[in-house]
Amino acid sequence: MSRSFRDDVSRALNDGDLTGALGRFSEAYRGAREKAYAGIDFEALRDRIAERKAYAASNLEALVERFKANAEAKGAKVFVSDDPSKIREYILKVAQDRGVTKIVKSKSMATEEIHLNPYLEQAGIAVKETDCGEWIIQLTRQRPSHMVMPAIHMTRHQVADVFSKETGEKLPGEIDRLVKVVRHEMRGHFMTAGMGISGANVAVAETGSIVLVTNEGNARLVTTLPKVHVALIGFEKLVESLSDAALVIKALPKSATAQLISTYVSIVTGQTRNDDGSLKDLHLILMDNRRTAMAKDEKFKQALQCIRCASCLNVCPVYRLVGGQVFGSVYAGGIGTILTAWFDELRKAKDIQGLCIQCGNCKQICPAKIDIPELILEIRRRLAVEQGLPMVQKGIFSVVNNRRLFHSLLRAGWKTVSAVAGRNGFIRHLPMFLSSLTEFRSLPAIAERPLRDTIKEIEQPDPEHVVEQAAFYAGCLIDFAYPHVGESVVKVLNRAGIHVTFPEKQTCCGAPARISGAYEVAAQNAIDNIEALLDEDVKYVVSACPTCTVALKEDYSRVLESVGKAEWLEKAKTLSEKTIDFSTLVKKLVGEGRLAFEDAQALQKATYHDSCHYKRILKASQAPRDLLRAAGHELKEMYESDMCCGMGGSYTVKMPEISAPILARKLKNIQDTGVSLVITDCPGCLMQIKGGLDKDGSPIAVKHSSELMADSAVARPGRASTERDPAA
Ligand code: SF4
Ligand code: SF4
Repeated sequence: MSRSFRDDVSRALNDGDLTGALGRFSEAYRGAREKAYAGIDFEALRDRIAERKAYAASNLEALVERFKANAEAKGAKVFVSDDPSKIREYILKVAQDRGVTKIVKSKSMATEEIHLNPYLEQAGIAVKETDCGEWIIQLTRQRPSHMVMPAIHMTRHQVADVFSKETGEKLPGEIDRLVKVVRHEMRGHFMTAGMGISGANVAVAETGSIVLVTNEGNARLVTTLPKVHVALIGFEKLVESLSDAALVIKALPKSATAQLISTYVSIVTGQTRNDDGSLKDLHLILMDNRRTAMAKDEKFKQALQCIRCASCLNVCPVYRLVGGQVFGSVYAGGIGTILTAWFDELRKAKDIQGLCIQCGNCKQICPAKIDIPELILEIRRRLAVEQGLPMVQKGIFSVVNNRRLFHSLLRAGWKTVSAVAGRNGFIRHLPMFLSSLTEFRSLPAIAERPLRDTIKEIEQPDPEHVVEQAAFYAGCLIDFAYPHVGESVVKVLNRAGIHVTFPEKQTCCGAPARISGAYEVAAQNAIDNIEALLDEDVKYVVSACPTCTVALKEDYSRVLESVGKAEWLEKAKTLSEKTIDFSTLVKKLVGEGRLAFEDAQALQKATYHDSCHYKRILKASQAPRDLLRAAGHELKEMYESDMCCGMGGSYTVKMPEISAPILARKLKNIQDTGVSLVITDCPGCLMQIKGGLDKDGSPIAVKHSSELMADSAVARPGRASTERDPAA
């Protein structure tokens, strides 16, 4: 990651106005969006949008032809091009041929994409942005920081300063007053401009229409008052029919600004009459700019489903801290990273792809069902193939891929680490260049004995009491830092008559490598684990780490396929089918009547933190809540319980400056509940939150759900315990 990029990120993080404005908006957005979608089956709506937009992406050429024919039949001139410079030239020529000296514009990301304004201005044509946010951006000579609200990063007082400079009048930071200024300033321009330029939210092939959705009404004036109207439309805006367009119009305001419907929805179909009776000169420009290439890419094709609502930005824990300016390009956020890699070039995404913590919030909320985190991983993979991995990562992964060496180093690490660890097992300070790792949270020490050793000492059920066999996949953190978590898992399962083995040849799940784009390394981890875990005849492969569970259950097939190791796919599928996370298995065992909870008096009040993988990929976080309540815990939900804690695997090491404020917010939300115990199902989150609370000197305890269940889960009443009596 370049030094200048890190400096930009630091500047953004230290800009209180920016983080304040984005933080307030993002908090208000969540609740407001929920209200806007009340009574609507969001999943059904987005299934439909995804399906219709995927159809359009698969039939781009046909839709372009159909749109062109229908629009031309209604008097529009249609220009199709894949070349931004030809599009700029076309628009300039239209303006010059008609003697236009002033253009009014409504908001259009497509025109930003081809840098149209400076080009026209250099040719001596005045361009006036008429969308309030875009005008602010134009006056401050910035880039939009958000697809829908371009100046969201600025406070009203900053805007007042900008407008004061422009109008020569000292203006207060009052929104009503500022809106009046915009109205007053724009009115004259609408009346005197020779040309209006707009984008389009949707382009309908069956009618040759474009649809414009705005709240300010400026697009309606831009497209009706001047005698020439030019609309620049990216291919991704094409849909087949008006009913497809209606789906987009239904979702767009709710997802974008949490409104039931936008104030203005305009449909332009063919030439209209000017007030002198002449026909408007209507130019519809369909822009490819690598969209056709994207449609042909099996992985990235889905990005064309985007309806540019920006809700993915509104819920992104990283975007709300750094804003859009650091993305350095026209498009910001996770989807912006993908569009930059395509519409600009792959290497331009090299720094910004590193901002993504892979929390999955964007995927969960996207009305077009785009798997943004997966596509960002694909960018990482392609960058790694094209440019190679950084030296440090290469070194680390070469160790991780050598199981014996990796595990010996971890064992040996205990001696070194115990020298700097405190008596409570936390490392609070690391020396020299490692010091940043403990700046905002303590780290766990490596356990004196890993789980692979201590598990041998657990007295498991006698063979006659064993109902099923399970293999435990511990993952690195439970094996080497939190063996007591693994021991709890084994004890609980034993009570249901499950004998648990620990396949010694298991190794890192491969998630750290995959998340870094090192798919070859991840594939080797996958193969090692498939061999180790399928070596024994077990019913379940149990994991108590959601990231590992996702790796075993979901990722291996994709990873192996992407590196051409198809011969392992069948075994990867078998492993996937056997893999189950701890809490889901316990819930199943309770449902089968094999486990129950002791008649619990009220236990400690607690709050539950949802790990990102657990909540959004495994969709399992109801199970531990049900079990903990059944065990007697009163759960007090924290604000944003499913918001990332800032761990993100190696993210906390690679981007500590972002990980720290995300964790700080999580700790505040925990502290606000007033409880003394936090429970989670993820050892990574456990490490991050526990370390953060320790660093703050907080007495709040953090436990893995298995530890609580080991305290209270018992064999079904009336059923003899399958645990050996330690006194026997
Ligand atoms: S990726 Fe999805 S959420 Fe983000 S702007 Fe596009 S449609 Fe909206
Ligand atoms: S996965 Fe999370 S961090 Fe990455 S872009 Fe999506 S919301 Fe942002």
